[in-house]
Amino acid sequence: MANSRFKYVRNFELADNLLPSTYLVVRIDGKGFHRFSDAHSFAKPNDKAALDLMDRAAKRVFEEVPDVVVGFGESDEYSFLIRKDSSLFSRRESKIVTLIVSCFTSAYVFYWPQYMPPERILQYPPIFDGRIVQYPSTSQVKDYFRWRAVDTHINNLYNTTFWALVLQGGQTTTEANQTLSGTVSGDKNEILFKKFGINYSTLPEQFRRGSTVVRSAVEAVNETFGIPATANAEPSVTEPEDPRKIANPLFGHKQKKKPRAIPPYDGTTGEIVVLHVDMVKDDFWDQRPWLLA
Ligand code: ATP
Ligand code: ATP
Ligand code: MG
Ligand code: MG
Ligand code: MG
Ligand code: MG
Repeated sequence: MANSRFKYVRNFELADNLLPSTYLVVRIDGKGFHRFSDAHSFAKPNDKAALDLMDRAAKRVFEEVPDVVVGFGESDEYSFLIRKDSSLFSRRESKIVTLIVSCFTSAYVFYWPQYMPPERILQYPPIFDGRIVQYPSTSQVKDYFRWRAVDTHINNLYNTTFWALVLQGGQTTTEANQTLSGTVSGDKNEILFKKFGINYSTLPEQFRRGSTVVRSAVEAVNETFGIPATANAEPSVTEPEDPRKIANPLFGHKQKKKPRAIPPYDGTTGEIVVLHVDMVKDDFWDQRPWLLA
């Protein structure tokens, strides 16, 4: 940008740097996806291709931004956890949010033809909004993901029962709403099982639990040591076999040179994988302590 007498307008741009040493969560959500899902004949209550496309777009965000270490998606939304000590764009809020929203949106459009049946042509450009929230403590971050995971469960149980009443039970949408008004989880499970023979707990985990994106620790450590990637290393991330031993069976015996130390893993490298796991329990975090380190 050359200097000119107009340059003073730049002074109106305000700093919007986020707090240092704070977890950042970016949540994006599709605008008007109720209509978008109708316009593109999404299966009800869950269109698997549409969920897979969301997961692919989320992976694209991971490819672009190494500091994104956890993703969680359901329906038309995705949340992204950014490392506490990230210095991405000097932690400028608008830069971070717009980059992630735009990265996700363009990937959603770019990969559409790969995930949708050929007759399902994109009818109009989809839009996503985004926001960023700062969390000072690990317990708040865990609770954030618990909140989204519980939301996934509640919505999916409701939608599954609602659409069973409509599509299999012949109720109108108004009637189905009435049937479900005031019911608790147990009632919905019972309606599904007694009226429609559906055992809720056997439905696909992708629908019940949502999608969790992480980088595989085993892949990352193996890469560091030039060990070929093994298929599907996640979720055996707890204690990977010491790669020095795999690379050199003599490792541990009398050696002249000191072997390279395994660098502490920080969650920013390795193969990007999509899991469908329980985000309410602590296990997910306990097995991957580097995510909140
Ligand atoms: P940053 O990520 O920091 O924005 P950048 O590579 O996008 O980096 P910019 O200062 O935004 O850099 O400049 C955009 C560059 O893109 C231009 O310098 C030019 O090289 C190229 N570019 C953009 N539009 C055109 C165009 N229509 N024709 C030719 N080159 C273009
Ligand atoms: P807003 O612009 O306020 O976000 P919205 O119409 O996008 O409004 P949401 O609350 O975000 O409303 O809900 C998204 C809606 O998109 C769901 O209620 C559902 O109808 C639809 N939807 C999203 N993903 C799928 C999917 N994979 N399968 C079926 N329907 C879906
Ligand atoms: Mg919204
Ligand atoms: Mg929406
Ligand atoms: Mg939504
Ligand atoms: Mg540019």
